[in-house]
Amino acid sequence: MTSEIDGTTRDVVIIGSGPAGLTAATYAARANLEPLVIEGVVAGGPTGGQLTLTTEVENYPGFPQGIHGAQLIQDMRAQAERFGTTYLTDDVVSVDLSSRPFKVVASGGETVWANTLLVSTGAKPRRLDVPGEDELWGSGVSACATCDGFFFRDQHVIVVGGGDTAMEEAVFLTKFASKVTIVHRRSELRASKIMQERAFKNDKIEFVWDAEVLEVKGSDGIVSGVVLGNTSTGERTDFACDGMFLGIGHIPNTQLFEGVLDTDEEGYLVVQEPTSKTNVEGVFACGDVMDHIYRQAVTAAGSGCKAAIDAERFLAEHE
Ligand code: NAP
Repeated sequence: MTSEIDGTTRDVVIIGSGPAGLTAATYAARANLEPLVIEGVVAGGPTGGQLTLTTEVENYPGFPQGIHGAQLIQDMRAQAERFGTTYLTDDVVSVDLSSRPFKVVASGGETVWANTLLVSTGAKPRRLDVPGEDELWGSGVSACATCDGFFFRDQHVIVVGGGDTAMEEAVFLTKFASKVTIVHRRSELRASKIMQERAFKNDKIEFVWDAEVLEVKGSDGIVSGVVLGNTSTGERTDFACDGMFLGIGHIPNTQLFEGVLDTDEEGYLVVQEPTSKTNVEGVFACGDVMDHIYRQAVTAAGSGCKAAIDAERFLAEHE
């Protein structure tokens, strides 16, 4: 026996602790279902999810002045706890969904049995898969400006991508870097107009259009540059820089459910819209792991609410 959680059967087990999981926890807890949140440590990203890595969240309703992402998560966690949610700070290593109660095993050895399972495992940053990226990951190559921007004071960094994440990372990095070059594979950004304007207006930000990173160069944990390939002409050029940040989208964390829960062509869990029901009775999905379209904190929270209500109704029907 590794903890008081080990071996227990829960009405509601939630895997993941971003806005979806924590909102589901608050709703389930207020329905007296005493949910357990297995909040994750490293497997699918940081505890609390991707919001903990952002800076100011300006579009979450109810905060006219904005709120720091990590603070928002901390408050959601405390809110769920207030109504009786318990937390296990660990990664889930396996699930058995072949019969109910479902078996959920954490990396520390705890086994929990779940009458309903809510999957809110989120998504993690996509990588380029080019030479040099893995070797220099964490020492000059990063997908988190908030975490690593500080190390690039007065240096020149590139940000890869043309979406909101890339713009946000680039603007944030100008607090430290002397110059930020956004490298985008097309000549038009995907980012929202407001984020584009912020990047265009910033004197420290430059753009390289129609280019992709083919290789990251460096040694001894220091990036010296990248090889860029022009996406129209194929021409290769060496581009000097001190660091590379990625903002090229995300991959859903569905490894635990491979071959069991249905996914779409991009690997996201499929739910029976407008509910949060998956193809396995009693298993519900919410947040970024099932949403490749909106991926907002508020939509994740909304889907977490739906999943908790679906679980509550399922339990009532199967009492
Ligand atoms: P995204 O919108 O999917 O954009 C990904 C970007 O990376 C695209 O520009 C894409 O290029 C590029 N890309 C993808 N794979 C690539 C590769 N292998 N090599 C080079 N470039 C590649 O992802 P996101 O920016 O992470 O945004 C995801 C969602 O979160 C969006 O809904 C966004 O609005 C939201 N978000 C909002 C905020 C905010 O409001 N403050 C901040 C961050 C994210 P193409 O354009 O050519 O496809």
